[in-house]
Amino acid sequence: MKSIKDINFKGRKVLLRVDFNVPVDDNKNITDDTRMRESMPTINKLVSDGASIIIMAHFGRPKKGGFEPELTLEPVAKHLEELTGRKVYFTQELLGPKVTEMAANLKEGEIMLLENIRFYPGETKGDEELAEQLSKLGDCYVNDAFGAAHREHSSTAVIAKFFPNDKYFGFLMENEVRNLEKLMQNPPRPFTAIIGGSKVSSKIGILENLLDKVDNMVIIGGMRYTFTKAIGGKIGKSICEDDKMELALELMRRMDEKGVKYFLPSDSLIADDFSNNANTKIVPSNAVPDDWESMDIGPESCKMLKEVIMNSKTILWNGPAGVFEIPAFSKGTKEIATYVAEACGKGAFAAVGGGDSVAAVKQMQLADKMSYVSTGGGAMLEYLEGKELPGIKAIKE
Ligand code: ADP
Ligand code: MG
Repeated sequence: MKSIKDINFKGRKVLLRVDFNVPVDDNKNITDDTRMRESMPTINKLVSDGASIIIMAHFGRPKKGGFEPELTLEPVAKHLEELTGRKVYFTQELLGPKVTEMAANLKEGEIMLLENIRFYPGETKGDEELAEQLSKLGDCYVNDAFGAAHREHSSTAVIAKFFPNDKYFGFLMENEVRNLEKLMQNPPRPFTAIIGGSKVSSKIGILENLLDKVDNMVIIGGMRYTFTKAIGGKIGKSICEDDKMELALELMRRMDEKGVKYFLPSDSLIADDFSNNANTKIVPSNAVPDDWESMDIGPESCKMLKEVIMNSKTILWNGPAGVFEIPAFSKGTKEIATYVAEACGKGAFAAVGGGDSVAAVKQMQLADKMSYVSTGGGAMLEYLEGKELPGIKAIKE
C-alpha cells in the first residue's frame, strides 16, 4: 500500500484531494464537519512534516461550467482555518496566474484550498488537460477522498498519472481500502451479510456479488417484501417492486445452489399509517393484512438475527431493517446494531456501510463499537458490487 506514513514530505508541495462536501444551512454555516475532520490526520501529518499543501475539493453539483457564488468553498476555507489553527490561502479565482502564484509562494507548513473543483466542466468528465494543469501546481499527489473514489474525475483519478512515482493514499483512504480488502479477501468464517434498505433494485449488484462470498445472507428492510411476495406471501401495502420478483426468485435459487443460507425475518411490525402515531401490530411477515404496511422486523426475527450475528466471524451490514427515521419503527435496526456491536466485542470483524446505515449506527451511538464504519456511501456500495474504484486503482497501478 502506498501510504503517506513512511514518507517524509518536508519541503514538498503536495496536491491533496479530499472530500469536504459538507452539508450547510441557508446561511452557509456548516452543519456537520465530520468529513473535514476525517481528513485532519492526513493534513496534520503533511503539515508537521513541513510540506505545503494544495487542497482540491468539490462542493455540491455546479451546473454552469464556471464560478457559482452559492457553491463557493469559501465557508469551508474559513472552517479549515479553525480546524487547523492555520491560515488557509484561498481565492475564488479559478486556475490562472493568481492561483499559480499563490501555490508557488506557499511555504513549509502552509495550506491553500483551491476553489470548488467542479466549477471546471472538465472535472467530472475526467478531462486530462485539466488534470495536467492541476498537476503542475504541486510535485506529488495524495488522495484522501474515499467518498469520491468511485468517480473517474480529473482530480480523483486522472491526475495520478502525472505522478507515476509520487502518488499515495491519505490515512482515511488507506484505512478504507485496508478494511474493504479484509472484508472481501479471505474473511474469517462464517461470513454474514445483512442487506436491507427500501429497494431491491438499488442492491441487486451487491446481492449478486456477495452470493459467491458469504455463508449467510440476511435480507431485511423494505426490499425483503419483494422476496416475500415472490414466494407467495401476502404483504399488504408494504413496499414492493413487482418487476423485481422474478429476479428475487432467481437470487434465492442461486443462493440455494451455492449453499448460502438466506434469512427472511419471520415476523414484521406493521402499521396503518406512515407515522410515529400509527396503530401497530406484530404479524407473520407473509400475512400482512391488506390495508397495513410493514415498517420494521418483529421480536421473533430479532431473536433469530441475534443468533446468526453472534455466531459470525465476519459481518457486513448495509441497509436498515426498518423505517428507522421514525422512532416507532427503529427498534429492529437498533437491535441489529446492538448485536453487531456485541459480536465485535467478542472478536468478530464487522463493517457497516451506506449513508442511511451509518447514520443509524451513529444515531444509536454505536459507531465506535464497530470494527469499521465506512465514510463513503456510494463508493463503499460500488466496491461491494465488485467494481474496481477508479480512485483506488489510480494510486495502485
Ligand atoms: P443505505 O443508505 O444504508 O445504503 P438504503 O438507502 O438502501 O440504505 O435504505 C434506507 C432506507 O430504507 C431508509 O430510508 C428506510 O426508511 C428505508 N426502509 C427500511 N425498511 C423499510 C420498510 N419496511 N419500508 C419502507 N422503507 C424502508
Ligand atoms: Mg441510502
